[in-house]
Amino acid sequence: MNLPVPDNYIDIHNHGAIAIENVFTVENLIASEERTPDETPGLTYSIGIHPWYLTPENHKELIKKVIIFSKHANVIALGEAGFDRIKGPEINLQRDIFEKQIIISEEIKKPLYIHCVRAWDELLAVRKKMKTKMPWLVHGFRGKAELAEQLISRGMYISLWFDFAIRPVSTPLIKTLPPDKFFLETDGGDVSIVKLYEKVAVDLEMSIQQLKHLFFSNFINFFGT
Ligand SMILES: [Zn+2]
Repeated sequence: MNLPVPDNYIDIHNHGAIAIENVFTVENLIASEERTPDETPGLTYSIGIHPWYLTPENHKELIKKVIIFSKHANVIALGEAGFDRIKGPEINLQRDIFEKQIIISEEIKKPLYIHCVRAWDELLAVRKKMKTKMPWLVHGFRGKAELAEQLISRGMYISLWFDFAIRPVSTPLIKTLPPDKFFLETDGGDVSIVKLYEKVAVDLEMSIQQLKHLFFSNFINFFGT
């Protein structure tokens, strides 16, 4: 299994990452894709059933695949999984498959990446009902400080949506987030993780080196590595 070193830029969530010197990436595998968690320098993996690609026909087969892949040494997390009220099947199927992935995450003791669009109440209700112990990472976050605070108080970490984090509009939120509870990601977008670090280092009045150490220590804490 690959792990980052303190000097790496950490891209906590990506799709289609390639090995880049000094960048460590958690590459996401969507269970409906044909890809596998192959050993690649600078990469480790998450695997999950994304609500966009979930159907009444494919979920049994996809859960089997997630169970098998989640045991792989190169897979460090479950997900992205969760709720989407804009795109995806009806909410009861989404909840059922999300809960199944929570059970896998808890059993195998690997944290869970969350995709959540307009379903925060659902997400919080499931977290409470399932009495989850593993930390969750809400990826692609661009909500308000109050919502971030609520999620963090329930054992979640936040990864900021790249297109939000890079813009000045995100600065007030970044300044209020607990520094030990968030991450940066490129999510398959046309943006460099180095540029994201540069922007957030200015927001937090830190050097790039300090920011690298912050996100490295967040990585260690979140994954318990
Ligand atoms: Zn993603």
